[in-house]
Amino acid sequence: MSATRAAHRVLVLNSGSSSVKYQLLDMRDASRLAAGLVERIGEQTSRLKHSCLATGETREHTGPIADHDAALKAVAEELTRDGLGLDSPELAAIGHRVVHGGMFFTEPTVVDDEVLAEIERLIPVAPLHNPANLTGIRTAQALRPDLPQVAVFDTAFHTTMPESAARYAIDPKTADRHRIRRYGFHGTSHAYVSRETARLLGKDPSEVNVIVLHLGNGASASAVEKGRCVDTSMGMTPLEGLVMGTRSGDLDPAVIFHLARVGGMSMDEIDTLLNKRSGLFGLCGDNDMREIRRRIDEGDEEAALAFDIYIHRLKKYIGAYYAVLGQVDAVAFTAGVGENAAPVREAAISGLAGLGLAVDPELNAVRADRARIVSPKGARVAVAVVPTDEELEIATQTYALVGKNN
Ligand code: ADP
Repeated sequence: MSATRAAHRVLVLNSGSSSVKYQLLDMRDASRLAAGLVERIGEQTSRLKHSCLATGETREHTGPIADHDAALKAVAEELTRDGLGLDSPELAAIGHRVVHGGMFFTEPTVVDDEVLAEIERLIPVAPLHNPANLTGIRTAQALRPDLPQVAVFDTAFHTTMPESAARYAIDPKTADRHRIRRYGFHGTSHAYVSRETARLLGKDPSEVNVIVLHLGNGASASAVEKGRCVDTSMGMTPLEGLVMGTRSGDLDPAVIFHLARVGGMSMDEIDTLLNKRSGLFGLCGDNDMREIRRRIDEGDEEAALAFDIYIHRLKKYIGAYYAVLGQVDAVAFTAGVGENAAPVREAAISGLAGLGLAVDPELNAVRADRARIVSPKGARVAVAVVPTDEELEIATQTYALVGKNN
């Protein structure tokens, strides 16, 4: 890979079922040229919000955008208006976020028919995400058939997990027949943040063990040993693990039988309950940590209990991954809550001095966009805040792969 390659831009696409998020990056200096979002695709009130970072200009349109094809064409038009059109010879590739890569995709992969077919075969284990990701890839292919399209999988970083962590304790034949195992998600973020944490400590990723806590609306923890993931809290689907914005996380599976048999709920109703109406939202009616903290400050007991349940689960995972790793160099907080909510970091780490873990209240209270250490000077284990950047990671992996193939 060389900085003088003629084609040095990468477009990153994150296609959801009714939205497309995008960023155009210049890989010579990893700078953002443009970024935006199309939401409510298929509705009358679709919205495109586009920012050109070079000029500082932001444009917004509201009105019907029928499908992903129309959405991507609208994005292409906006980029062309900024002189950054998708027909530019400077565009090297399009990198796509793909949520589920199963066991098969351990690395970013240039898309061909076989790759598309495999992503499609994984739809039963990722019914909400993979169809939208596929649509995004196919639409981009139609727009620029000559350009490499690269799939970067949320699950890839976790494929290094040993079988002892990846398997559920159920009959392996049944598990294999239905592809039931722990895949983990948010892998692009865990990969990026664990590497950036090593950099913050002045070490190579192969020299450090890191517990990464990705706390956004979805949330997951991972144990990263010398740069390789050895355990993560999400499982076959993103429902397992930590308490999240609207997902319950870990739950006795018998609760589901009970809700069906005794509660008379259908499987779809239980699915919606656990994925969309549980977690912080289910506990107190709010899933935004800012709002929950505001309510706690006003003495709201429901919000306080929701916060305590969230922290208790988080603490259990820190302890569990400490034991999995045996020796820990850093605990890194990332994503919307992890990066911004000082009280969450303080509460999750409090009482763990015996494990060499503490936060310095003053350092922890500082608000900043950069990666930083918030544990006291000389602490045995660093506690770090490391902003995640999944788009940059997707672009970096895409550009490296395309460079290798050229
Ligand atoms: P997503 O999982 O949707 O990508 P993000 O990583 O953007 O989520 O995180 C979104 C969440 O971050 C919000 O729901 C909110 O709870 C939390 N958050 C964002 N900013 C703050 C803040 N300043 N203080 C506390 N929490 C915040």
